[in-house]
Amino acid sequence: MFKWKKGEIALKIAVVNNNVEQSLKLAEQFRILCLENHLLLDDKDPDVVVTIGGDGTLLSAFHRYAHMLHQVRFVGVHTGHLGFYTDWRDYELVELVESLLNDKGESVSYPLLDVKVTYQGQKESSHFLSLNESTMKRIDGTMVCDVFIKDELFERFRGDGLCISTPTGSTGYNKSVGGAVIHPRLEALQLTEIAPINNRVFRILGSPLIVARDEWIRIKPLTTDGFVLTIDQLTSSEKNITELTYSIAKERIHFARYRHTHFWSRVEDAFIGAKKKYEI
Ligand code: NAP
Ligand code: MN
Repeated sequence: MFKWKKGEIALKIAVVNNNVEQSLKLAEQFRILCLENHLLLDDKDPDVVVTIGGDGTLLSAFHRYAHMLHQVRFVGVHTGHLGFYTDWRDYELVELVESLLNDKGESVSYPLLDVKVTYQGQKESSHFLSLNESTMKRIDGTMVCDVFIKDELFERFRGDGLCISTPTGSTGYNKSVGGAVIHPRLEALQLTEIAPINNRVFRILGSPLIVARDEWIRIKPLTTDGFVLTIDQLTSSEKNITELTYSIAKERIHFARYRHTHFWSRVEDAFIGAKKKYEI
């Protein structure tokens, strides 16, 4: 069935799974299939990272391999339904191994968010990459901050927080706070408000905003304590942030695209799932 011939260079595969029993079992099955078919298992220097679990598992794998995005392609296996970063189902492991063996370097890439954090008293700022979104929130009390677009003051925001998302992240937290779903072929960033205060005294836009590829969003909190900063599934309490700058990263995430699921079908399937019901 497979085309591997002795002497050919095999792909190096890393497997990342969550700790749900089904994922643990599936990961073990997948590793055995790889070894039986001369695919190399290599967690340190992989060509392809295969994740087994959910979209969250792919997010974890992304952060684990964020330092080598230029050489790694991702493939997601979902143990439940089809996800947004997960094109393969649990019963398709043999087909996946077959695709890996026939790999011709097929790939598709999506934009990432560059998060630059500047701390009080520190000259150097810290850089992070995000695949879904980054949020800045205040849990006790109102977050007050100035929002700049391309260095120009846009508004003084008051509310629970702000969310900046990538196109592929637009179906995640962004959507729950009223943001639009964006096709991932567009290189854009979306800013959404989390429980904003908007009245005749405090004036803000009050709707999501999408900036172009060469623009950036800067957030300067008016007080520097009591913030929670999230980057995808990672959360940290922050005290001394003076400035956050969000832009589209130079790096992109690459997926091994052995099959194609139409983006809007994926959205329909995940959020509506009623196509069949309306068919006559
Ligand atoms: P989680 O609490 O398990 O994730 C929440 C849900 O978001 C899960 O159903 C997850 O899918 C799904 N998800 C993740 N990325 C998505 C995307 N790009 N588009 C659509 N759905 C997506 O935590 P997690 O699995 O570590 O994922 C972290 C992400 O969850 C965050 O980056 C954020 O986007 C999202 N989130 C959303 C809310 C909200 O909507 N109120 C709150 C917290 C976090 P799986 O079940 O396949 O993992
Ligand atoms: Mn999850």
